[in-house]
Amino acid sequence: MDYISTRGSAPALDFEGATLAGLASDGGLYVPAEWPRFTADEIAAMAGLSYAELAAKIMAPFVGESLTNERLLELTTEAYGRFAHKAVTPLKQLDEQQWVLELFHGPTLAFKDVALQMLGLLFEEFLGRSERNLTIVGATSGDTGSAAIDAVAGRAKVDIFMLHPEGRVSDVQRRQMTTVLAPNVYNIAIEGSFDDAQAMVKRMFNDAAMTDRFAIGAVNSINWARLMAQVVYYFSAALQLGAPAREVAFSVPTGNFGDVFAGYVAAQMGLPITKLIVATNVNDILHRALAHGDYSQGTVTPTAAPSMDIQVSSNFERLLFDLGGRDGAAMAAQMKGFEATRAMQLTNAQREGAAALFQSSRTDPDAMAATIRWAWENCGELIDPHTACGLHAARTAGIAPGTPVVTLATAHPAKFPDAVERSTGHRPSLPARVGDLFDREEKCAHLPGDYDAVAAYVAQHAEPKI
Ligand SMILES: *Cc1c(COP(=O)(O)O)cnc(C)c1O
Repeated sequence: MDYISTRGSAPALDFEGATLAGLASDGGLYVPAEWPRFTADEIAAMAGLSYAELAAKIMAPFVGESLTNERLLELTTEAYGRFAHKAVTPLKQLDEQQWVLELFHGPTLAFKDVALQMLGLLFEEFLGRSERNLTIVGATSGDTGSAAIDAVAGRAKVDIFMLHPEGRVSDVQRRQMTTVLAPNVYNIAIEGSFDDAQAMVKRMFNDAAMTDRFAIGAVNSINWARLMAQVVYYFSAALQLGAPAREVAFSVPTGNFGDVFAGYVAAQMGLPITKLIVATNVNDILHRALAHGDYSQGTVTPTAAPSMDIQVSSNFERLLFDLGGRDGAAMAAQMKGFEATRAMQLTNAQREGAAALFQSSRTDPDAMAATIRWAWENCGELIDPHTACGLHAARTAGIAPGTPVVTLATAHPAKFPDAVERSTGHRPSLPARVGDLFDREEKCAHLPGDYDAVAAYVAQHAEPKI
């Protein structure tokens, strides 16, 4: 399988190349040159596979020649063997129509583990084939950092430098990162905000003094391999609910549009999805874009669902590219306009294409709290604030009664205990596997909000690319 850039001028790469590259050199994002498709019979034959077997089947056409089918199955078996639930992503029924797909049984209690556990193994596999070293640099407001660190800790040929804004992540989130003492893990607390940390990371990707010496890689959802891994659980859930004979709707708590784009990919591959519901909190750029064609950046309002407090959704570009006839030059021009004015209008083709599969909704803090309470009082389930946005959107979406609606549960409620307790009076406890988090030693550098200090720290500790 070839991967092409959404902006049309970067060289095409194979799966291995796209996995190690992250962002394309023309500023675009890599997408497969075409969508692989399964027939209804092929999908029906997937029923009853284990999660690892299903994952290998779904990923095989994307991976192409980069891995044999046997090796791919070994990697999915290893990645998903680390989950605390045997079903990996168990499906729970809430009422006649509503279901939740629990994606938080990985090591760091958020859905990002599903993709990053696999990505960590892919990095190690591909780097092991040559003498290359990879330097991962990222910024996190919480969940991505811990999931990425867990996925690469102790692995050969990879160093990870994870920046977080000092004092602005929760104690659980910080300790999930800083108590990993593996020598290739470098946590850096930065004076300033998440946006300051993120800006330093972007600058480093474009700093020739750094990129000449180090192969700097990305672990956020601009990396195609992450999205590929997320396609699997759409198939897993739909198969359990009777696909391909029966259609299913999904409601997806959304920030960077990565998780819900994986649902779009599943639909392109032949999975019968009636609707993909894009659930935002009050940071609603995607809701405005899908409902009115208006993709314009507002200011971020902090909410109880911080992983969705985003005003620019990187992966939306992948959807616009596909709906706009895969015209890289047009996409480059559209994104250039957005970067200059922080606003753009969707074309008619993009709006109509999106309306065929997507609908969207925005959940305010009162509805979020009321939905957490509803799930507890009516179903005995504690859900986290991100999942609550999804479930609120699902319950108000007007999907026809015979069609099951699956909300993706993106974080364990114990990651956000205060919000859950405020709505239900119950404080969710951390699962036993992370229970001694508060007794472990922490390791973290503290640096000023100054790019040169951060670059010097990375240069001092990272392995050069060859
Ligand atoms: C990252 C995250 C999201 C948003 O996912 P995207 O792929 O960025 O849309 C939602 N919920 C939780 C808990 C997350 O960590």
